[in-house]
Amino acid sequence: MKPKIILPIILFTMIFFVLYFAYPLNGIPAASRTNHFTSDSLINKDESTMKTMNLTEEEWKQRLTPEQYSVLREKGTERPFTGLYWDNHEQGTYKCAACGSELFSSDTKFDSGCGWPSFYDVSSSSAIELKKDSSFGMIRFEVICKKCGSHLGHVFDDGPQPTHLRYCINSASLDFKKEEKKHNP
Ligand SMILES: [Zn+2]
Repeated sequence: MKPKIILPIILFTMIFFVLYFAYPLNGIPAASRTNHFTSDSLINKDESTMKTMNLTEEEWKQRLTPEQYSVLREKGTERPFTGLYWDNHEQGTYKCAACGSELFSSDTKFDSGCGWPSFYDVSSSSAIELKKDSSFGMIRFEVICKKCGSHLGHVFDDGPQPTHLRYCINSASLDFKKEEKKHNP
């Protein structure tokens, strides 16, 4: 090929890739849309970094209700619109039902309509880990409590601003602590 033809082809290819990454089909820039999944340290790469609580499954069974055990330890999913917190609008903190670690704040809870408590952010990025989950023929990201290794739910990238994330969490994995009303003297 003549150099005169090669140069426009290279330029066109470069422009195409720049535009693709800036404006993919769903209108959300790829950089902000996938940031939490690709470059964030939340994604667990080493199983041994989790599970600082080394309880046996028998001990977990004693600590948890059968429903909590099925969700937290066996990665079960409660039926939508049945849990304690999907429609909870009170101010407070959501903790891990297995170990008490603080996970979500009511400030980031929103009505997603999916029937499970939904949050657009975590209280602290050090509280959870994400793990790629290919079960049921879908690629999803499982949300795991970093302190005890328990299953909490999944996170999707169709949430509201500013994160565009939707942490879809089982009520059975959560323990809600209502915020104390401050006394005005
Ligand atoms: Zn936990």
